[in-house]
Amino acid sequence: MAREGILIVVSGFSGAGKGTIMKELTGRHEQYALSVSATTREARPGEKEGKDYFFKSREDFERMIEEGALIEYARYVGNYYGTPKAYVEEMLLSGKDVILEIEIQGARKIREQFPNAVLLFVTTKDAQVLRERLKKRGTESREVIQKRLLRAVQESEGIEEYDYLVVNDELNACVAEIHSIIESEHRKIRYNMELVNRVREELRSFSKGE
Ligand code: 5GP
Repeated sequence: MAREGILIVVSGFSGAGKGTIMKELTGRHEQYALSVSATTREARPGEKEGKDYFFKSREDFERMIEEGALIEYARYVGNYYGTPKAYVEEMLLSGKDVILEIEIQGARKIREQFPNAVLLFVTTKDAQVLRERLKKRGTESREVIQKRLLRAVQESEGIEEYDYLVVNDELNACVAEIHSIIESEHRKIRYNMELVNRVREELRSFSKGE
């Protein structure tokens, strides 16, 4: 039997490198399924429909909300972002560990609906690195960068709500660390009750001299 899939939420400040980390992690291990969100934000150069995001008009996004097609959604710097429900449910059922790369309001809603979800927060070792990365990316205007930095200040207030902090200093190390956190999660007793019950049964019959 396939082991039960775990729902993993990855949040982090804009510019912390979540996207790169997720690409590496999913490329290295087949057990992960990365959820693709819907958004009303404009595609950045190089971003692909259905791979980076499902790019939606505001009307289409609001229709998805009404139809209950999203597990959670939030507004971030003037745009909607949300997690399509069907993919997540299907992947979890098939035993994949599903990763949601979402911001903090979404993370809170996931925690309410899936109390066993693992919440990771990715940061750089200091704020200077973040600012430099955002500027270097060159895809956002000065004004949007300022708004994203302001949003990072607000999100930093909520870090205590997460289970693990991961510092993205060296990419390889960071990816290995996240994988090891997830593997440890799979070793929790609650995910291993089938084996536990089997061994219990066997012990019972041995103790009766069978
Ligand atoms: P970006 O515009 O940089 O791609 O994403 C902006 C923020 O929205 C990031 O913090 C990202 O994690 C978050 N985000 C992306 N998809 C979703 C989603 O489906 N739901 C929520 N709540 N946040 C999301």
